[in-house]
Amino acid sequence: MVMALINCKDCNSEISDSAEACPKCGAPVPKIVGPDEEQCPHCLTILHSSATKCHGCRAVKGYMYEPRYGAFGKTGTIVWGLIVPAITIIGLPISVYAAYRLFVTGPRWFVSRGAD
Ligand SMILES: [Zn+2]
Ligand SMILES: [Zn+2]
Repeated sequence: MVMALINCKDCNSEISDSAEACPKCGAPVPKIVGPDEEQCPHCLTILHSSATKCHGCRAVKGYMYEPRYGAFGKTGTIVWGLIVPAITIIGLPISVYAAYRLFVTGPRWFVSRGAD
Protein backbone atom coordinates (compact mmCIF):
# COMPACT_ATOMS: atom_id res chain seq x y z
CA MET A 1 0.00 0.00 0.00
CA VAL A 2 1.27 3.44 -0.89
CA MET A 3 1.52 5.85 2.00
CA ALA A 4 -0.10 9.18 1.35
CA LEU A 5 -0.69 12.42 3.16
CA ILE A 6 -4.27 13.25 3.95
CA ASN A 7 -5.91 16.13 5.75
CA CYS A 8 -7.36 15.58 9.20
CA LYS A 9 -11.12 15.82 9.11
CA ASP A 10 -11.24 17.85 12.32
CA CYS A 11 -8.21 20.16 12.35
CA ASN A 12 -7.15 19.94 8.68
CA SER A 13 -3.49 19.27 9.47
CA GLU A 14 -1.56 16.93 7.19
CA ILE A 15 -1.25 13.41 8.53
CA SER A 16 -0.12 10.08 7.14
CA ASP A 17 -2.98 7.84 6.04
CA SER A 18 -1.29 5.00 7.90
CA ALA A 19 -1.65 6.84 11.22
CA GLU A 20 -4.24 5.57 13.68
CA ALA A 21 -5.14 9.06 14.83
CA CYS A 22 -4.26 12.66 14.11
CA PRO A 23 -1.08 13.58 16.06
CA LYS A 24 -2.31 17.16 16.48
CA CYS A 25 -5.90 16.80 17.69
CA GLY A 26 -6.23 13.07 18.27
CA ALA A 27 -9.14 12.55 15.90
CA PRO A 28 -9.26 8.91 14.75
CA VAL A 29 -8.34 8.25 11.12
CA PRO A 30 -11.09 6.21 9.44
CA LYS A 31 -9.89 2.96 7.91
CA ILE A 32 -11.04 1.11 4.83
CA VAL A 33 -12.60 -2.14 5.98
CA GLY A 34 -14.05 -3.70 2.82
CA PRO A 35 -12.74 -4.43 -0.67
CA ASP A 36 -15.52 -2.33 -2.18
CA GLU A 37 -14.66 0.70 -0.10
CA GLU A 38 -12.29 3.56 -0.66
CA GLN A 39 -11.41 6.69 1.22
CA CYS A 40 -11.85 10.27 0.12
CA PRO A 41 -8.31 11.70 0.16
CA HIS A 42 -9.63 15.15 1.05
CA CYS A 43 -11.87 14.53 4.06
CA LEU A 44 -11.18 10.86 4.92
CA THR A 45 -14.82 9.82 4.51
CA ILE A 46 -15.15 6.12 3.67
CA LEU A 47 -17.04 5.74 0.39
CA HIS A 48 -18.26 2.88 -1.78
CA SER A 49 -15.74 2.27 -4.54
CA SER A 50 -18.40 2.96 -7.17
CA ALA A 51 -19.15 6.41 -5.70
CA THR A 52 -18.29 9.38 -7.89
CA LYS A 53 -19.10 12.02 -5.32
CA CYS A 54 -18.01 12.38 -1.70
CA HIS A 55 -20.88 13.13 0.66
CA GLY A 56 -18.37 14.41 3.19
CA CYS A 57 -16.71 17.24 1.29
CA ARG A 58 -18.37 17.20 -2.17
CA ALA A 59 -15.15 16.07 -3.87
CA VAL A 60 -15.84 14.43 -7.21
CA LYS A 61 -14.12 11.43 -8.78
CA GLY A 62 -13.06 11.25 -12.39
CA TYR A 63 -10.22 11.23 -14.87
CA MET A 64 -10.29 14.98 -15.50
CA TYR A 65 -11.97 17.92 -13.83
CA GLU A 66 -13.41 21.14 -15.14
CA PRO A 67 -15.21 23.49 -12.71
CA ARG A 68 -18.15 24.17 -15.04
CA TYR A 69 -18.81 20.53 -15.90
CA GLY A 70 -17.50 18.69 -12.88
CA ALA A 71 -15.53 15.46 -13.07
CA PHE A 72 -15.28 13.53 -16.32
CA GLY A 73 -15.92 9.79 -16.26
CA LYS A 74 -14.32 7.41 -18.72
CA THR A 75 -16.60 8.21 -21.69
CA GLY A 76 -16.42 11.95 -21.10
CA THR A 77 -12.64 11.84 -20.86
CA ILE A 78 -12.32 9.83 -24.08
CA VAL A 79 -14.62 12.20 -25.99
CA TRP A 80 -13.80 15.61 -24.49
CA GLY A 81 -10.25 14.91 -23.37
CA LEU A 82 -8.91 12.59 -26.03
CA ILE A 83 -10.82 12.86 -29.31
CA VAL A 84 -12.01 16.48 -29.48
CA PRO A 85 -8.69 18.14 -28.49
CA ALA A 86 -6.73 15.77 -30.76
CA ILE A 87 -8.54 17.27 -33.77
CA THR A 88 -6.96 20.63 -33.07
CA ILE A 89 -3.18 20.96 -32.77
CA ILE A 90 -3.56 23.34 -29.84
CA GLY A 91 -5.47 20.69 -27.89
CA LEU A 92 -2.80 18.01 -28.24
CA PRO A 93 -1.35 18.47 -24.72
CA ILE A 94 -4.87 17.92 -23.34
CA SER A 95 -5.14 14.66 -25.30
CA VAL A 96 -1.80 13.50 -23.93
CA TYR A 97 -2.95 14.40 -20.43
CA ALA A 98 -6.27 12.59 -20.93
CA ALA A 99 -4.53 9.48 -22.24
CA TYR A 100 -2.17 9.57 -19.27
CA ARG A 101 -5.12 9.77 -16.89
CA LEU A 102 -7.07 7.05 -18.66
CA PHE A 103 -4.35 4.49 -19.13
CA VAL A 104 -1.70 5.26 -16.50
CA THR A 105 -3.03 6.93 -13.37
CA GLY A 106 -6.73 6.04 -13.39
CA PRO A 107 -9.39 8.25 -11.82
CA ARG A 108 -8.73 10.49 -8.84
CA TRP A 109 -10.74 12.71 -6.50
CA PHE A 110 -11.02 16.39 -7.29
CA VAL A 111 -12.09 19.12 -4.89
CA SER A 112 -15.41 20.36 -6.21
CA ARG A 113 -15.20 24.05 -7.03
CA GLY A 114 -18.29 24.55 -9.13
CA ALA A 115 -20.86 22.28 -10.71
CA ASP A 116 -21.89 19.12 -8.86
ZN1 LIG B 1 -6.47 16.70 13.59
ZN1 LIG C 1 -14.47 14.02 0.87
